[in-house]
Amino acid sequence: MAKKIVLTAFLILVFACGLKAETKNVILIGWDGAQREHVMQALEKGELPTLKMLSTQGQLVKIDIEGTTDTKAGWSQILTGYYPSVTGVYSNNQYHSIPEGFSIGERLEKYFGDANIYTAAVIGKKGHVDAEPEEMIKVTDDNRAELEKRLKAKVDKNGKLKKPDCRIKDVNGVEYFFSPGKPHYYMSKNTDLFENGLSRNEKVGKRTLQLLDENKGKRFFFFVHFAEVDHAGHNHGENSKQYNYALISSDKWTGKIIDKLKELGVYDETTVYVTVDHGFDEDAKNHHNAPYVFLATNSTKLIRDGRRQDVAPTILEAFGLDLTKIEPKIDGVPLTQKDTRGPAKIGSDKPIKNKQKKKTIQL
Ligand SMILES: [Zn+2]
Repeated sequence: MAKKIVLTAFLILVFACGLKAETKNVILIGWDGAQREHVMQALEKGELPTLKMLSTQGQLVKIDIEGTTDTKAGWSQILTGYYPSVTGVYSNNQYHSIPEGFSIGERLEKYFGDANIYTAAVIGKKGHVDAEPEEMIKVTDDNRAELEKRLKAKVDKNGKLKKPDCRIKDVNGVEYFFSPGKPHYYMSKNTDLFENGLSRNEKVGKRTLQLLDENKGKRFFFFVHFAEVDHAGHNHGENSKQYNYALISSDKWTGKIIDKLKELGVYDETTVYVTVDHGFDEDAKNHHNAPYVFLATNSTKLIRDGRRQDVAPTILEAFGLDLTKIEPKIDGVPLTQKDTRGPAKIGSDKPIKNKQKKKTIQL
């Protein structure tokens, strides 16, 4: 009998722990361009104490990427949970604005109500994590020269030709200059704060600390984007000391954000996730084929490795949203749930549009 009581009490306890309340807050921290292998080596050397702390207190899992390994594709997938066929964001050069209401912040605003949650994005990059609306300008004699300048291909700092993402469209015999809306246009409109182009980690970090102070007491969701790892990779290469230093800097600022959460007394009710949009080609200055990254968190609820699109449903579920009610159905699966999808299709997810274009040229 006594054994039975003990067993029942044990089962109730296990059950109660499983039903533990949802998280109150989430901070999603991005280390743009952090290659998994390099990060693991730095972690072993003791260079990333914050990541070490998170993985000890919570978990560190592998994330393998389906789709293009660049910034626009990466953060669009992470912030929505969808494949590019739903968001329209295939790569840095092929995109339009993510449809309204699809990002984590927008879903949380709708679920909790504007007055009950503070949603903010504090972003290092200017290009590729951007929010300008679509442009459709009638071409006239006055603006033609200026618009044509924007249509010219530019050479980037690696000597690679960058195709412009704008073009001239013919609408019933009238010429229009067309530039697609940037991915995060609707997110920037429908959440409380969207600031990009802060560039240095220090600026991103300090702004985040300030906003946490200013909004203390409120429920919150932050997306904090550190750009220096990616910039150091492009400028100096993946095996450079600058790339390694940028990782150390991202870890340091992640630590300062966690310290602030502790100082404000909200760390225990805040789930922190650190993740990455794409890795880096080994010993190179680019990330054409860099599908191996990671996710670290202070949560102990994750049960497996995952994919880039699994991050958004993991966060929405942590806040208590019922994923079965979300339309269209999210492509990712929360990292707290079993994966029955079969092996990931690692690598590029080329849109059908591209194939059609190529065929036309060949003909
Ligand atoms: Zn990059």
